[in-house]
Amino acid sequence: DDESIDLREHIRGIPDFPKPGILFYDISTLLRHGPAWSAAMARLGRAIRPHRPDLLAGIESRGFLIAAPLALELGLGFIMLRKRGKLPGETVGLDYALEYGTDRIEMQADAVEPGQRVVLLDDLLATGGTMAAGVRLLRQAGAVVPAVAALIELTFLEGRARLDVPCETLLRYD
Ligand code: 5GP
Repeated sequence: DDESIDLREHIRGIPDFPKPGILFYDISTLLRHGPAWSAAMARLGRAIRPHRPDLLAGIESRGFLIAAPLALELGLGFIMLRKRGKLPGETVGLDYALEYGTDRIEMQADAVEPGQRVVLLDDLLATGGTMAAGVRLLRQAGAVVPAVAALIELTFLEGRARLDVPCETLLRYD
């Protein structure tokens, strides 16, 4: 990839989104810049390849934008972890706690074969709640999860402390 590209220049922080006081890291500006998006995928690919995945999984919806192109880059299949009620056929699901209330993620029951190595991707790791729930769901479906990865990590939220697998991230903000 083009090593002169500084990915940080392609992420913008948008204040007070979705609520007052929250600084939201927007990846749209990265996605709309071809060379930067490509460099990000190549770098993440290098970070996760040593974990020897058989499949990549993405968490709806921005996780899809990371996991699907990366799966193509690595020549691997891609599976979806989705919000409740979106997937056809038999599904397995998991309810997890949010700041207020709960949410549910689901995947197709036959998406992984027992023992397959699945690396889970999302755009950003904040408190780690979403990623931790995804790891639990994948294991429930029979997968081995050797690592998770995200483009961005908000280190001050200490999300990686909630994970029991290595987490590869490209950009860290504190
Ligand atoms: P967590 O569960 O780790 O607290 O939150 C991570 C989830 O929220 C991810 O699915 C991510 O897409 C979303 N998220 C939280 N904050 C941000 C942000 O500042 N920017 C982006 N792009 N996503 C965020």
